[in-house]
Formats: sequence, structure tokens, C-alpha cells
Amino acid sequence: MNSIHHFIGGKVVPGESGRKQAVFNPATGEQIGEVMLASKAEVDKAVDAAQAALPGWSATPPLQRARVMFRFKELVERHRAELGEMLSKEHGKVAADADGELTRGIEVVEFACGIPHLLKGDFSENVGTNVDAYAMRLPLGVCAGITPFNFPAMVPMWMFPMAIACGNTFILKPSERDPSVGIRLAELMLEAGAPAGVLNVVNGDKEAVDGILTHPNIQAVSFVGSTPIAEYVYHTGTHHNKRVQALGGAKNHMIVMPDADMDQATDALMGAGYGSAGERCMAISVAVPVGDGTAEALLERLAPRVRGLKVGPYHDPEAEMGPIVTKQAHERIEGLIDSGVEEGAELVVDGRGLKLQGYENGYFMGGSLFDKVTTDMRIYKEEIFGPVLSMVRADSYGDALQMVNDHEYGNGTAIFTRDGDAARDFVMNAKIGMVGVNVPIPVPVAYHSFGGWKRSLFGDHHMHGPEGVRFYTRMKAVTSRWPTGIRSGADFSIPTMR
Ligand code: NAD
Repeated sequence: MNSIHHFIGGKVVPGESGRKQAVFNPATGEQIGEVMLASKAEVDKAVDAAQAALPGWSATPPLQRARVMFRFKELVERHRAELGEMLSKEHGKVAADADGELTRGIEVVEFACGIPHLLKGDFSENVGTNVDAYAMRLPLGVCAGITPFNFPAMVPMWMFPMAIACGNTFILKPSERDPSVGIRLAELMLEAGAPAGVLNVVNGDKEAVDGILTHPNIQAVSFVGSTPIAEYVYHTGTHHNKRVQALGGAKNHMIVMPDADMDQATDALMGAGYGSAGERCMAISVAVPVGDGTAEALLERLAPRVRGLKVGPYHDPEAEMGPIVTKQAHERIEGLIDSGVEEGAELVVDGRGLKLQGYENGYFMGGSLFDKVTTDMRIYKEEIFGPVLSMVRADSYGDALQMVNDHEYGNGTAIFTRDGDAARDFVMNAKIGMVGVNVPIPVPVAYHSFGGWKRSLFGDHHMHGPEGVRFYTRMKAVTSRWPTGIRSGADFSIPTMR
């Protein structure tokens, strides 16, 4: 049995709490490991290690920190196949998708390699006679990241490369469902030259999260996961005076206008709706065709494609979609499909009850497609996080926009159209953090920043890119005068520059 422990102060540290959780291969339903769940005392040890590494690391010149990032990037590239296999085995996503997630993570490391330039401050000479003013961006201290199951490599790599390049030390708390890759990334950071204690990994559940949120020596917490936990993390962390960015769940709509290229829109809905079995916070889960003609044109193309989806284990090169992450998640998704049928939506393609030959105990399910969904149904209101696409027909573009804006989530959205006016209006007026025009999954590249609006993000900063630098640093403003022999005497009014 593979036991997954913690990584503290540059080495694997056996879990001591006595609490552990089984880790499964979702393709076979077999238990393939057990992950140790940290106690608060074990979190404290990680914080001590990160605190001890902080003075040396924060004083390391940014150029040297960048060199560690360059070497880390090379190592992740070299170990791509191993990391991909490791995460797919626990998560279930197909090999090409795992490789894509690693690419997206590596791109953030590449951005972090530019840290000397990114940390350059402002300088104004002679703001008063012989007085200069400048601003610096300085690290915060010990930072922590709490991550979800659906991107076990990419989401941690949204966080720790930026935090560490900025001069902070870091504690990662990966998802307990697919924890192995977190420790491997920390080993590679050590090999790349990050001193022991700069990146620590504590595995665990709520107890470890609470240990992080209440620890007086942790300055900032990045969280990605479901909305109820994001909200809890935000309020608990800020209550304990931490800077917090907490990214939550999503319900992403794709509006299809009557003038859209229907084949292109169909391809987009297939990839964005069913890729990674819909377990992506940027998955499209609601298609909004404008007009019944558009709905019929889409349905005619979509339904056979959804029926023909190739479902298989991660190592099957033909598979377009893997299994659902856990048995519980599988049951929850099937339950939500049941509720859609009960509430009167039309189930055009039913993915429930799929059994794959040779993988009868795996958590597989086919793609499901609903038509005539209405906005009061559970399948519309809740995040399903599975391979289920709901079609909600709209009479006009205005109705479609209103629907997007009325939903509680505001992560991503897209419009498919050839009409520049409609596209521009949508870009300007959608109350959503990330908008695509004929792009179904508008995930910003690493040198822009990722984040939603409304109940998809609690806090003020998006992740990685320029916002990542802002989140993991704080400003210091310096005003300096050189002794020049000029004395103007004591001044008892507010200083002004003369
Ligand atoms: P989750 O909220 O269950 O878990 C996320 C993290 O929180 C894990 O590390 C987990 O251990 C911890 N956690 C779980 N329950 C907790 C509790 N009661 N108290 C404290 N900590 C707790 O999320 P998940 O199922 O792993 O991931 C899927 C969710 O993440 C979806 O809602 C998805 O939309 C969201 N997500 C959002 C983004 C984004 O960028 N907005 C990206 C990826 C995933």
C-alpha cells in the first residue's frame, strides 16, 4: 500500500496523527494508497520550517530565485510523463488532459522566472529639493495554498511558484483525493535548489485547513475549491488577519447566437462540456441558444456526438473522457440527473448507468444532455461538476445576457457569434470574471490573471500573472533626503515638498 505522508523542511515526514484516508484509482475502483491527515501540531511543524527558511529566502536576490524557477521548470518538463501518470491514476483524467494541465502549470513557472523584472518598483527623483521617493514590493512571509482535486498539479502551480519567486516561503495543502503529485513537486523544487523549508506539503482535511487559517505566523492564504468552503476559508482567514484569495465554484454559460458557426459551436460545447468529465471550474455546463431555430440546429449536431463520446481509463489513447473522481461524486451527479428528469427537463442523452467492460467497478458515466431546462431547476442552479450539459433556450440576446448575470456564480462565460456588436456588448456587460468570444474556455494565459466574480471568488486578487505578484507582496514607500547642508528649521505642519 502506497502511504502518502507530508513534506516538511526538505524531507518526507511520516504522518503522526493516526488519522488517514483511502486514495482510489477511479478507473478501477481499487484503493491504491492512503493519505495521512495532518493534525494541527503537524501544521505547526510545517509553519516552523517555513518560518525558519524565510529570512534566507526572502534575502536571496530575485535573480537567484528566478534561477531556481528555471531549474524547476526544466525538472517538471523532464518528469512530465511520471507526473502525468501519477495524477491521472488518482484523478482519472485522460493522459492528454493531464499533460495539458502540466503545460498550464509550467507556464506560470515561466512567468515566475521573470520575477526580477516583475518586482521592479517605482522611483521618482527630486519629489522635493534633494528628496527622492520610491516604492518597493516585499514578500509577505509564510504563505499557504489549499487546493482542489480537479487540477492536482496546475492549481498548486498557480500558487507556490509565484509566492516563492516573490520571496515568500510556502505550505501546500493538496486535495486528499489525489495528493501524490504535491509531494513530488516539492521534491523537484528542492532538487531545483529551493532551500529546505521553502516549499512544504501538509496533507490533510478540515483539521489541517483550520490549522492553517488560524496560525498566527501565516500571512496569506490562497484557496481554490467549492464555494461553501471558499467562503468559509475567506471569512475564517480574514478574521485571523490574513490576506485571503478564495476561488470557488462555477456555472459557466455559453450563449450561441443565431449567426454563429454551428459546427464550431458544437465542437466547443463538446470539449468544454465533457472534457475532463466536466470536472473543471471553467467547464461549460449551460448552453444558451438564442431562438428555437438555433436550439434545434445545435441539438441535431450535439446529440449524436454526446452519444458517441469515448469514455475510458486514463491510459487509453482513444478515450476523450475518464471516470468521475470518486464513488460519492458519481452518485451525486447521477442524483442530480434524476432531479432534472423529475423536475421536467428533457433528457436527450442519458449517461447514467454506464459500465465499461473490464472496468466494471470504475466510476464511469457517459455524457448527458438536457434540453428545455428552466432556471428554477436544481440542475441549472447547482454546480454539477460532471459530464452534464443543460440547454436553456432564450428568446433573445437580452434574455440570455440577463440569465448569465442573474446566476450566483461568475467564473467564466462565452458567446459564439459573428456579430461584432453583440460580442462587444457581451464583453462589456456580462458580470463575469473571464469572458470568451468564440472561445469556450477563456482561461487567461499565465501572464494575465485568473479569477471569477460574484460567488466564484472571495477576496480582491485574481491568481497568477500581475495579480499574483500583487497578492504575494506588499508595498513599502520610501522618501529619502540626502544631507545637503540646507536647513529649513523645524516644520510643525504636514510635510509638503518644496
Ligand atoms: P472542495 O471545496 O471539496 O475542496 C477544496 C479543498 O478544501 C481541499 O483541499 C479540501 O481538503 C478542503 N476542504 C474540503 N472540505 C473542507 C472543510 N469542510 N473545511 C475546510 N477545508 C475543506 O473542492 P473539490 O471538490 O476538491 O474541487 C471542486 C470544486 O473546486 C468545484 O466547486 C470547482 O468549481 C472548484 N474549482 C474552482 C476553481 C476556480 O478557479 N474558481 C478551479 C478549480 C476548481
